[in-house]
Amino acid sequence: MGDAADVIVVGSGPAGVAAAVELRRNGVERVVLLEREADLGGATRHCSHSPFGMREFGRVYSGPAYARRLAAEAVRHGVTIRAGYSVVSLHEDARLTVACNGVVSELEAKRIIVATGAREASRAARLLPGDRPVGVLSTGALQSYVALHGLMPFRRPVILGSELVTFSAVLTCLRHGARPVAVVETLPYALARAPASWFPGLLGIPFFRGAELLDIQGRARVENIRISHGGNLRDIACDGVLVTGRFLPEASLFLNSGMGLAQGAQAPAIDQDGRCANPLYFACGNVLRAVETGGWAFREGRAIGAAVARDLAHPVAVQRVAVEFAPPIKLVVPGYVRAGDATTGALGEFQLRFTARVRGELSLELDGVPVWARRREFLPERRVLVPMPAGLQAAQRISFCFREG
Ligand SMILES: Cc1cc2nc3c(=O)[nH]c(=O)nc-3n(C[C@H](O)[C@H](O)[C@H](O)COP(=O)(O)OP(=O)(O)OC[C@H]3O[C@@H](n4cnc5c(N)ncnc54)[C@H](O)[C@@H]3O)c2cc1C
Repeated sequence: MGDAADVIVVGSGPAGVAAAVELRRNGVERVVLLEREADLGGATRHCSHSPFGMREFGRVYSGPAYARRLAAEAVRHGVTIRAGYSVVSLHEDARLTVACNGVVSELEAKRIIVATGAREASRAARLLPGDRPVGVLSTGALQSYVALHGLMPFRRPVILGSELVTFSAVLTCLRHGARPVAVVETLPYALARAPASWFPGLLGIPFFRGAELLDIQGRARVENIRISHGGNLRDIACDGVLVTGRFLPEASLFLNSGMGLAQGAQAPAIDQDGRCANPLYFACGNVLRAVETGGWAFREGRAIGAAVARDLAHPVAVQRVAVEFAPPIKLVVPGYVRAGDATTGALGEFQLRFTARVRGELSLELDGVPVWARRREFLPERRVLVPMPAGLQAAQRISFCFREG
């Protein structure tokens, strides 16, 4: 590929493309975008439904149309696109080992941005019981079948989960000739907010909350599932099981390369500019905290792309303070705060998630002094935003505390 790039961006979803375009818009010359698939756009490529793009492009796109718009933006801004390039490992000195068409090579840059997205937990990762027939798959796999190969693998699936993506799965089924026979959630409530969570009920699809999956039955194909619900056993005849949500950051590059992951998040820890523990590396999008919307990933990519452009022009000595927290707080992004200089970062808010449904007071303390607090109910997998207060970068100790009650 010739000389070292200024910046290599890994992953061409909304976050990666937005970061690459923003770097070019800020005058960075050699910006290379690496994508392991043949086409750009990330997870949006196979979401056949809307809405994507309203806030970033001022109009509503379906997923594939949005992916094409992202690709067009990258071309228009002079990003060097390398599709079919899979990054295999990251090296401390901003070199990457990359595989393309069976050839392994090394690429280097002054800075690397990792925007590799997230993936849904598989059947195996969820330890689901039962037979092992054909017909158990994730929303991402279903949407790839439908969008890329024109195949609908079942007609009467049961859908497990209740996150936003669950309702995306219901939509995909309905649009492509399948009718879900039930939605099943282990928790006693839906993880997605209303009105998305009303969706199955409005369509006449039974929605079992607080239900435990006991068995998946079937010889060759899925034929039935058994659940326990409200103290009763219930059999549901179906020809497939769609496991939705429980996203995990696609952070294997960091893990395999010996670069640390953040507490709780299973993702790289960043500061408020998206900078990782190794200051040559940055990260943005769903790889930081599964999972957010496409628009969120895009805006975050754009902000962190601008921060990387600033970092190239005026590198800062990085001194960081770790943000402290404990369960039931699951994760805090950013997990570090760059100390010492007065400039604000790319991210103006902390984003938190909780491990369970809890009621109580969440507070932010700087050097032991509370500077922000809210008392309410917090639900798992729902984003909680806390504005970064004045004086944050001067603090020696930054802690989120939670008191139940
Ligand atoms: C089923 C489903 C439905 C959704 N519906 C909506 C919706 O209606 N509206 C909405 O706003 N959002 C929706 N989303 C969420 C949205 O798609 C994501 O938030 C967004 O795509 C995240 O962007 P990203 O750039 O962080 O990652 P991704 O879009 O996941 O992109 C990551 C990219 O990195 C590439 N990559 C990973 N590893 C490597 C590697 N080692 N080397 C090279 N390339 C690599 C991947 O191939 C991928 O292209 C949906 C998501 C899913 C899964």
